[in-house]
Amino acid sequence: MNNVTRRNVLLSASTLATVAAIAGAPSLTFAAAPKQYFQSPGFYRMALGDLEITALLDGTLPLPLPEMYRDVAAEDAAQLLHEAYRDIPTDTSVNAFLVNDGERLILIDTGTGHYLGNEVGHLMSNLEASGYTASQIDDVILTHVHTDHSGGLARDGKALFENATIHVPRRELDFWVETPADARPEALNAQLFKEAEECLRPYLQRGRVKTFQDNEEVIAGVRSILRPGHTPGHSSIVVESGGRKLVFWGDITHGDIVQFEQPDVTIEFDVDRAMAVRSRKQAFVEAVREGYLVAGAHIAFPGIGNVLQEKGHFIWMPINYSDGEGGVIK
Ligand SMILES: [Zn+2]
Repeated sequence: MNNVTRRNVLLSASTLATVAAIAGAPSLTFAAAPKQYFQSPGFYRMALGDLEITALLDGTLPLPLPEMYRDVAAEDAAQLLHEAYRDIPTDTSVNAFLVNDGERLILIDTGTGHYLGNEVGHLMSNLEASGYTASQIDDVILTHVHTDHSGGLARDGKALFENATIHVPRRELDFWVETPADARPEALNAQLFKEAEECLRPYLQRGRVKTFQDNEEVIAGVRSILRPGHTPGHSSIVVESGGRKLVFWGDITHGDIVQFEQPDVTIEFDVDRAMAVRSRKQAFVEAVREGYLVAGAHIAFPGIGNVLQEKGHFIWMPINYSDGEGGVIK
């Protein structure tokens, strides 16, 4: 084939393909790839001094946040979300966190388990994708007893973390498990008490539940800060290493926009809304003052970042992504 002929063949082939594409005719050259409707596994790893921290995604729930917030008009909350380019309903992460201190494997919160549908409940598969199994967990620490934090503990009356001790704030066990039914606040959904008991019972029966007091060391190197209001014993969990500090602050906020912009905004699940506001402001002010890292259970995955303050309001600043270049996770 001489040059002129080859050029004609190539031209005619490309012309045909173009015509086929324009006409929408099937063509090998322009075959459409089917869309793949899944994400990469939901874990994110970072180092904090000598500690290995792994954020674990339980899933995201599309929540109608403006309807769920309290102490703000729904349209004002919607406006704040729209200004931040957030959709409504807003995909809201449910995160848990794993700490490997070289001796113990410590899980902070356990996700929703099977209680809140198929969009969530993926903690176990993401734990395994991250290189660990449930039987390796030595300690589970709960920031509080709400189904999206304790739901992953058990299934059908069976403990899913067979070798773990479950550490629960004393006030939380008292409130959710040991308060007689007729002494519970009427405004609260009875289902929450039932689910709390279901999740903890397998461990209580085997003597595997330990409680911790306000602002106490939970296990060596891991301490708690009482941040009550969302629930009576809601606690943040603190680890430090190499001069760095990370505070797993539980449900200090739901979402990363509205309650930073307006810390007085509460949410329907808060047991004591005024107290939840005080705790949120204390947590924000301390995080700004000390500049430590924060990990939030309902902030877009991995939910780790810093808090900035600007003229009376606060801003969530997510950590910068690192792929662990050179084999060193930073
Ligand atoms: Zn929660």
